[in-house]
Amino acid sequence: MDAPAYPHLFAPLGLGFCTLPNRVLMGSMHTGLEDRSRDYPRLAAYFRERAEGGVGLMVTGGVSPNLVGWLKPFAAKLSWPWEIHKHRIVTSAVHAAGSRICLQILHAGRYGYHPLTVSASGLQAPINPFKPRKLSSWGVERQVSAYVNCARLAREAGYDGVEVMGSEGYLINQFLSARTNLRTDNWGGTPDKRMRFAVEIVRRIREAVGADFILIYRLSMLELVPGGTAWDEIVLQAKAIEAAGATIINTGIGWHESRVPTIATSVPRAAFAGVTAKLKPLVGVPVVATNRINMPEVAEGILARGEADMVSMARPLLADPQWVAKARAGRPERINTCIACNQACLDHAFENKTASCLVNPRACAETDLVYRPSSAPRRIAVVGAGPAGMTCASVAAERGHRVTLFDAAPVIGGQFNLARRIPGKEEFAETLRYFGDALQRHGVEQRLGVRVGADELLAGGFDEIVLATGITPRKVAFPGASHPKVVSYVDVIEGRAAIGASVAVVGAGGIGYDVAEFLVQPPPSPTLDAMRWMADWGVRADFDGPGGLRRPEPEPSSRKVWLLQRSAGKPGARLGKTTGWIHRAALKAKGVVTLGGVEYLGVDDAGLRIRVAGVDTLLPVDSVVVCAGQEPLRALLAPLQAAGKSPHLIGGADVAAELDAKRAIAQGSRLAAAF
Ligand code: FAD
Ligand code: NAP
Ligand code: SF4
Repeated sequence: MDAPAYPHLFAPLGLGFCTLPNRVLMGSMHTGLEDRSRDYPRLAAYFRERAEGGVGLMVTGGVSPNLVGWLKPFAAKLSWPWEIHKHRIVTSAVHAAGSRICLQILHAGRYGYHPLTVSASGLQAPINPFKPRKLSSWGVERQVSAYVNCARLAREAGYDGVEVMGSEGYLINQFLSARTNLRTDNWGGTPDKRMRFAVEIVRRIREAVGADFILIYRLSMLELVPGGTAWDEIVLQAKAIEAAGATIINTGIGWHESRVPTIATSVPRAAFAGVTAKLKPLVGVPVVATNRINMPEVAEGILARGEADMVSMARPLLADPQWVAKARAGRPERINTCIACNQACLDHAFENKTASCLVNPRACAETDLVYRPSSAPRRIAVVGAGPAGMTCASVAAERGHRVTLFDAAPVIGGQFNLARRIPGKEEFAETLRYFGDALQRHGVEQRLGVRVGADELLAGGFDEIVLATGITPRKVAFPGASHPKVVSYVDVIEGRAAIGASVAVVGAGGIGYDVAEFLVQPPPSPTLDAMRWMADWGVRADFDGPGGLRRPEPEPSSRKVWLLQRSAGKPGARLGKTTGWIHRAALKAKGVVTLGGVEYLGVDDAGLRIRVAGVDTLLPVDSVVVCAGQEPLRALLAPLQAAGKSPHLIGGADVAAELDAKRAIAQGSRLAAAF
């Protein structure tokens, strides 16, 4: 076999009793399929694809060791022998594909979304309406036994090991940290006693499962909460966990309640690898770097610089199950990169929906959305090379159809060409790179710079016509809407409109927020400035001190921006479940004023006149940027129908309201799978 393109990534890792083929750990990711027995065949198919794609070691989503440790009512649990059977479907599928899998044992403690929660103390988490019951000493012993029992059952179910979830603010973390552990018995009061819960769990699991079973411990290395554990104590914990029998130490960054983003797209790539690097020389077991590692060169760099022994990736393997195989073959351009949007994975988990992936709708739908070779190849025209059209064309061609893709613009990507210009959304360019390669590889004829008309489509003799023509920005109708101060977001992002020092943004949807960010952030740089980002969010560069936090020092904006909406209530309420708070906090830090319940009275030379709660106000702005939503663009539909054709509508051309790339890509892919 040829030498791998990324030698450090593909160096085997010996664990004493077994050898991992490469340095990729597929990190734990809650998919929702773990929670229902009937979904285990789907879960097995999901893991099997990733195993076939060459991942060396995988970790399941969190499974609680008992009922009080549930994440939510009826969430995944393994505490009785009769619960083993369904897990065997998963472990056999993974082993048949030549990989290994560990079960993550996650006791939610006070993060459990149900009334039975328990914790080290009776302190309620700020993100949970349920108050935990403080465990008695006997209760603590019972939790330790539950972890051990769960690990023993995991071994019986065929797992190659377990990962003990000791970070992210879950139960073990609640014992470790002085901010949540107020006990004065043998389980709290001093650092040694606070860490006793974690150490006893690891020690007793090792005793119960024997030496030849992988025991990963996810260590909370940077808590990012006020009063969080400082570095010296974290090192003590790592050493004690190693001595207690852990095989591998994985990195945990942040608690769920912390107010610093840790995995969103605006977090610079590998921003936290330095934390793992700091621990590595202090322990003897392999350590794993995590968070925002999504491309082979990033992973290889971490390993080559000796910052970690393995890299953990969860979402990047949702996005592309063949990630490892493509990296192994030296074809990074073929990787469907995770853009860290959270829209179909983490947002779904928090909305009680099955996880999937915005750029790969087959994730967790492996048995249902299948791209089989077509038995009757057809000639297909796809009009519009935005996310919906690119996906449809690429999948249809992959299945053997002859596809012509038209776009009026000289480049593919549609609105993603705007999205990628927003500071903190640079990753969106990776999706354009991926589709650029895929369209070419699958032989799609690309007719770019062509605003195709109905006549040409009819003359082309296509068997199927797909209209993926997207949207047209909605115009506003208030007095002065045609004043030179009033411009569209498209002109602003594309740099065609000169924007003054004070700006009103009309419309506070996803695009309004992005435009406000565009106006107040310094221009995007090709490589995100990690130090600047840390200063903005108040993370210490040396990752030391309580929780690794410092006073945030956001760079002031040179522009004054107002972000407005007509609906009453807090703007930004409809932004992503797990990322909306980041956008709201980022704009607040830059001094952007957000207003709901606004009536637009008109624009004139003096600025924008508005009425809020019956009070008229003049916003003395130089520019008014309209981000008032969109209407479907489907001018080709009527003439094609009049000519007897039945074109397919996907993406914004179908429905513009509530449109996002998740829906556009899923629609494109499902239509192409059905041709
Ligand atoms: P479009 O992307 O609009 O593509 C339509 C294409 O059709 C265009 O390229 C157009 O040139 C072409 N076309 C139209 N008529 C013709 C014709 N007659 N002949 C040839 N070509 C034609 N979504 C998310 O999910 N997450 C985000 O974080 C996000 N951020 C965004 C940020 C910004 C600044 C913007 C503007 C959008 C963002 N979106 C985001 C929205 C997302 O980009 C859209 O939902 C998605 O692009 C819609 O895809 P589409 O394929 O339906 O249409
Ligand atoms: P949007 O979310 O529908 O927001 C449109 C905004 O314009 C609303 O604030 C609306 O609020 C206002 N508006 C609507 N009609 C108006 C009118 N006639 N006059 C004045 N204001 C009007 O649309 P968008 O912001 O353009 O985003 C489009 C899609 O892209 C969204 O559906 C979103 O999912 C997606 N997107 C997602 C992200 C993300 O981070 N996930 C980012 C960007 C875009 P009022 O009616 O209250 O004024
Ligand atoms: Fe990554 Fe977004 Fe897919 Fe989640 S939905 S795996 S964040 S690309």
